[in-house]
Amino acid sequence: MMKSTMAKAHVDRVPRNNPCAQCGTPIPQPDWIEPGEGRRVSYLWTCHACNYRFEAVAIFAHEAVEHPPLAA
Ligand SMILES: [Zn+2]
Repeated sequence: MMKSTMAKAHVDRVPRNNPCAQCGTPIPQPDWIEPGEGRRVSYLWTCHACNYRFEAVAIFAHEAVEHPPLAA
């Protein structure tokens, strides 16, 4: 019998290998994930090469709805 994990949707959204803002070294995964308002999620990245810490904010669309650009 096999169990399947159903609650990993949010984990799949975690960005990987974000380049360090200071030295450019790819960071495998964020140190901290902080859900913000609405669809914003803050990620705290720590570079282990230069010890630089920075925050990046991502905004996720809840539904995959594409809005056509408005013609001016
Ligand atoms: Zn760095």
